Amino acid sequence: MTEDSPSSRIVPVLVPTPAERPYSYALPAGMDARPGAIVRVPLGPREVAGIVAEGESDGIDPRKLRPVSEVFDCPPLTPDALRFIDWVANWTLSPPGMVARMFLRAPAAFDPEPMLEGLRLAGGAAAGADIRMTDARRRVLELAGDGMAWTRSGLAHAAGVSASVVDGLAAQGAFEKVAIPPQPVAAAPDPGYAQPVLSPDQQAAADTLRRRIGEGFSVTLVDGVTGSGKTEVYLEAVAAALAAGRQVLVLVPEIALTAAFLERFQDRFGAKPAEWHSDLSPRMRERVWRQVAEGRVRVVAGARSALFLPFRELGLIAVDEEHDPAYKQEDRVFYNARDMAVVRGRIGDFPVVLASATPSVETRVNALQGRYGRVVLPARYAEAAMPDLHAIDMRRHPPARGGFLSPVLLGEVEKTVARKEQALLFLNRRGYAPLTLCRVCGHRFQCPDCSGWLVEHRFRGKLVCHHCGHNEPRPEACPSCGTLDHLVACGPGVERIAEEVAGAFPEARVIVLSSDLLGGVKRLRLELEAIANGEADIVVGTQLVAKGHNFPNMTLVGVVDADLGLANGDPRAAERTFQLLSQVTGRAGRSGKKSLGLIQTYQPDHPVMRAIVSGDAEAFYEQEIAARERAMLPPFGRLAGIIVSAASRAEAESHARSLRRAAPAAPGIAVLGPAEAPLALLAGRHRMRLLVHGEKRADLQSFLRALLEAGPKPRGSVKVQVDIDPQSFL
Ligand code: ADP
Ligand code: ZN
Repeated sequence: MTEDSPSSRIVPVLVPTPAERPYSYALPAGMDARPGAIVRVPLGPREVAGIVAEGESDGIDPRKLRPVSEVFDCPPLTPDALRFIDWVANWTLSPPGMVARMFLRAPAAFDPEPMLEGLRLAGGAAAGADIRMTDARRRVLELAGDGMAWTRSGLAHAAGVSASVVDGLAAQGAFEKVAIPPQPVAAAPDPGYAQPVLSPDQQAAADTLRRRIGEGFSVTLVDGVTGSGKTEVYLEAVAAALAAGRQVLVLVPEIALTAAFLERFQDRFGAKPAEWHSDLSPRMRERVWRQVAEGRVRVVAGARSALFLPFRELGLIAVDEEHDPAYKQEDRVFYNARDMAVVRGRIGDFPVVLASATPSVETRVNALQGRYGRVVLPARYAEAAMPDLHAIDMRRHPPARGGFLSPVLLGEVEKTVARKEQALLFLNRRGYAPLTLCRVCGHRFQCPDCSGWLVEHRFRGKLVCHHCGHNEPRPEACPSCGTLDHLVACGPGVERIAEEVAGAFPEARVIVLSSDLLGGVKRLRLELEAIANGEADIVVGTQLVAKGHNFPNMTLVGVVDADLGLANGDPRAAERTFQLLSQVTGRAGRSGKKSLGLIQTYQPDHPVMRAIVSGDAEAFYEQEIAARERAMLPPFGRLAGIIVSAASRAEAESHARSLRRAAPAAPGIAVLGPAEAPLALLAGRHRMRLLVHGEKRADLQSFLRALLEAGPKPRGSVKVQVDIDPQSFL
C-alpha cells in the first residue's frame, strides 16, 4: 500500500462486541493513533472506548467509514499487550474485542489525572510584610517557608489549623498558585530496603530465582510446605526485577489475602505495592490503572484481572497459591490466570514464578518433565513444625445427636482453649444448614430458578440460593402443607457449627468467618487481624480462612467434613480435597508450639485422607498423576466444555444435539454428551453440557472453531459458552 493511498488513514479498532475481527474506522487528519492507542469511537448509537489493533484494513474507502472521535491522551498499550489480547482470544475462543475490553476497565483513567492546585509562598520578603499576624497564620507561613508547593488542605493539616486560615492568607496574597502533579498511589519500593537473612535452603532457592531475572522467559515452581518461606523467597525475585528497572505483578487468589501480603511487602521494600481487585473504589481503580500505564506504579498485588492492566515494562509475574481455583474466571471470557500469566511471560520474554505448597497436578507434571524449573523448600522456617495429623473415623466416634463434632475433636478443642491457644474449625459451607425440609409433608425448599436447595442463613433469617443469590425469608409454616413450626434444618454450615461450639464452650470467644460477613473486605481484614492478635479462642470458617494466613497462636485445626468435596464427580475432586485439607491444616503450628490437625471423615482409608495423615504428598501426587495419565485427563489429554443454555430445556437440548451432530471427524478427539449439566437449572436457564476430550497434541481450538462454524448459530434465548480446560464441571 502506498503512503498516500486513502486506506493508510484507516485504523482497525478492537471494540467491545462479539465480532471476530476489529472494526475499521477512519482516522481524521491531524489525529495520530498507533497500534495500542486507546480511542473513542462511535458504535451504533453509542460511543465506546476501543484499542487500535495491529495490521491494516483492506481496501475500504475511508469516506465510507465513521471517524475516530478521539485519541485519548494516554500511553498506548504495548505491542506485547496487543499480542496477549490476540493470544487469549484465540486460546479461549473469545472475540478479541471482549478480551480487549478487560484492559479497559477504568474508563476515567484514559484522560490524564488532573494536576492538583498547589500553593507556594509568594516570592519576595515583602509578601508577608503587611499581613496581620496570628499564631495560626505564623505556623502556616513557617511551614510554607520551605519554598515547596503544598495543597491547601495539606498545609492546613500540617500546621494544625483550619483551611480557612490558609484561605485568609491566600486572599492577602501570601501565596502564588502552582500545579502539583497527582500523588502516586504507592511510594517507590526499594529493593535493598530490608534484605532478609535466609536459611540455606531459602538462599539457594532465592539465588535460582534471582538468576532467572533478565534471562528471558522461564517458569519456576517454588514448591514448599506451608510456612517454609515461599513468599520470602519469591520476594527476592521481585527485588531483582525491580532493581533491573522492571514492573512486577504478584497475583494472589483471594483479596482478603492481599492485606497480609501488603504488610510483608512493606516490611521488605519500605513501601506497599498498589492493589488491584474488585473491592477498590472506582477512583482508586482509575488511579492505579493510570499509574501502571505511566510506569509510576512499579508493583501491583492483585486478583486475576490484574493480568489485564496496561503495564509498560512488566518483567516478572509471581503467582501465589498457583493451584487455587479462584484463578479460573468462568464468566464471559473463560480463562485461567495462572496459565495466562505463563503466556504473558512468554510473550514478554520474562520469568514467571509459581508458588504453592500443593501445586496443581498440571504444574507438577510440567516441572517433572522439565518444562518448568522447580525449587523446593522442604521444611518450615525456624522452629515452626508441621502439625501432627490424624483422621477421626466418624463411624467409630460419632457426634452426639443433633451435633456434627465428634467427642474426640471437642475434647481437643477444650484442651486447646484451656491452654489459651486457638482452635480453627473448618467447614467449606456458608450459612446454617444446606437443606431445610418439612417434617410433616417432606417438602424441601428449592430455588425457583436453579437446581439446588436453598441454604438457611440463620443470622439473616433467610433462605438463600448460593448459585444465583435468590433469597426469601424463612417461613414459620410449610408452604406446602401449612403446618406450623415443623421445619427442620438438615446438615451443617459454619453458623450451625458455631452454635454447637458456643453450646459446648459458653465461655469461649467464637468468631465465624465466611464471605457472608457484612462489611466487605475491610471488615474481613479486621477480623483476620483480630484472630492473629489472639482476640478469639475458636474460629469457625470456610475456605476463606484456609488460605495463607499466619495465626501464630493457632495450634488446633479441625476439619468438620473432610469428605465434602470428594463426592461431586469432578475429575479434580481428589486433588482439590488434598490441596484444601493440606492448606487448612497448615494453619496450625506457625510458631513452634506443638500443634494438631484432626480430620473428621467417614472414609479414613480414602487415598486422600491417607496422604494427608501420613504427610506423604509425593505418594499422593504419584498416584494422582498415574491415574490422570491412564484416563488421558489433563495434563495428559485435553478437555473443553461447551455449555449450552436456554430459557427452556427443549431449546437447550436441541441446540446441544445439533452442535454434537456438526462435530467434524477428527482423529484423537471425541465429543461426549450432551448431558444435562449437574446444575441443570441456573438462574432460570436450562443447561446442557458437551465435553470435548482430545489427545495431548490435539488442536482442540481448531476443532471447536470448526464445530461452532458448522453448527447452528445460537438463536432466541440460546447461549453457547466454551470453557477450555474446565476446572469445574457444574
Ligand atoms: P509460605 O509462603 O511458604 O507459607 P512464608 O514466606 O509466609 O511461607 O513464611 C512463613 C513465616 O516464616 C512468615 O511469618 C515469615 O515471615 C517467616 N519467615 C520465613 N522465612 C524467613 C526468614 N528467612 N527470616 C525471617 N522470617 C522468615
Ligand atoms: Zn438460584
